This record gives sequence, C-alpha cells and structure tokens, in this order.
Amino acid sequence: MQSRVKSIALVLDPVRPQPVGDGFNVSNFFPRGYKIKMSPFFLLDYNARTELAGSEEPRGVGVHPHRGFETVTIPYYGAIAHEDSAGNTGIIYPGDVQWMTAARGILHKEYYEKEFNKSGGIFQTVQLWVNLPAKDKMSTPKYQSIKHADIGKVILPDGAGIVEVIAGDYLETKGPASTFTPLNVFNAKLNPGGTVVINFPREYNTGLLVIEGQITVNDNNTAVENQFIYFNNDGESISLCASEKCTLLILSGQPINEPIAQYGPFLMNRPEEIQQAIEDYNQGRFGYLEE
Ligand code: MN
Repeated sequence: MQSRVKSIALVLDPVRPQPVGDGFNVSNFFPRGYKIKMSPFFLLDYNARTELAGSEEPRGVGVHPHRGFETVTIPYYGAIAHEDSAGNTGIIYPGDVQWMTAARGILHKEYYEKEFNKSGGIFQTVQLWVNLPAKDKMSTPKYQSIKHADIGKVILPDGAGIVEVIAGDYLETKGPASTFTPLNVFNAKLNPGGTVVINFPREYNTGLLVIEGQITVNDNNTAVENQFIYFNNDGESISLCASEKCTLLILSGQPINEPIAQYGPFLMNRPEEIQQAIEDYNQGRFGYLEE
C-alpha cells in the first residue's frame, strides 16, 4: 500500500497569553487553548518570543508540585534556572532540553536565570507535559539534563537544514531522552527552500509549532511563526518545505488510551488518585524545597 501524507486538520493561532507565576507569559495550545487530541503530549505552553525587561527581583514560578507526568522544557532564547526536591539543580540554555519525570511526586521551582533576569533580553520557550501510562505514574522521579551536544543530529541532503532529535528517532538517529512510551520530539531547522519528509505511524498524534520563520506543509498549506499545525491520523508522513529560514518543534507519539483525571499540577487516571495526590502534598510527602 502506498504511504500517504497526514492531512492537516487545523492551523492554530496562539491564544491570548496568560501569566504563569511572576514573569512567564504563556499561550496554551492544548488542552485548554484548543481541544485537540495530542496524547501522550498532555499540555503545550508557549512563551512566544518577547523582549524581557531587566529586573533586580527574581521572577518565575515558586515552589509547586507535580505528579503523574513529565515536564519537558525547551528554551529557544533566554535562560531558565531549575531546582527540585530530588536535589536536581540546573540552568537550561537555548539548545538544551530539560526532561523532568515527576512521576510519584516532586516539588520544583522555575525561574529566569539570575544574570538573564538582571540584564533582560529576548525570551522564548516551550514547556510540554508528557503523560505517563498508569503503570508508571507512581515510579521514581527522574531528571534528564540534555545538552545540545548530546542531541541527535541528522544533516539533510542538498543543504536543506538539520533535524535535531531530542526524543524518538529519525532515520537511524536516536534522541537521548529516555521515554516511557513511544514518542518523538524534534527541532527541525530548515534553510529557505529546504524540504524534508518525516515518517510517523498513522495512529501517532502529530503536530508542529513554528518557532521561527514560515513553512509550507504537504505542498499546499502555509503556517507562520507562533502557529501550531495539527495533523489528522490519516497517513504516515508529513512533508515540509521552508518558505523562509525556519525552526519547527515537531511532536508525534503513540496515544496513551487511558482515562484522565487532572487537577492543577496533578495528572492521574481516576478522581481518587487526585484526592490522594492532594492529601500526599498536604502531608509533605512530595519532599521539601526551600522557597
Ligand atoms: Mn512546574
């Protein structure tokens, strides 16, 4: 049977940004912004490229819990400092990726990195929440600090650009992130006129965010910076052509077909598990982290 392209279901504009903590300003593409099925990706928060004014006051999101999923932070401009109750600390710079498995529970805080906060500058970042299957929701928390040098890189023919493989695989190149279910997270950086065809299984939920530039998809649809393209599960490939130099965040994964119960920072299967998470949090069972 001949493979066909996944047709485009929607080209989505970012919704009006909302403040998160003190300092971040994010558009939620899903699940609040748009009701699209992107499992295993549960949430996409996007801080579009903005000029941040410098400040002497630390700014960010203070200590808060997570349970039942993973947070994946991908900065494109600026720098973010992280600290969690499992003892992990780090600064995430553009090109790097932080993949934090909250699983049974973690407390963390996310701030602008000190010097960047002071000087200000251009800021742009994505945070994904990746769901975990029921059997792994209460596993041990984990922290993957992925440096740009360790990200898989596929140089495309004819000077078309590069596909950076953070998770999953493209052609023979594997991404460094270990994941609980099959999924792909790529940054594609294409030169003007550069083309690439990427294959994903038909049933994989698939979308891409235009981080920078402009792209033509499947020969006939155009999307510009800050738009999200959501594909139908009716084919096995996506075909991309850069109308101008562009950066694309590409997401595709096998859906986790399990019930969802969510309350704020907790993402479980059943309401009783949410109650348990709240109780555990109130009882201090997520550990301790200084404000
Ligand atoms: Mn968080």
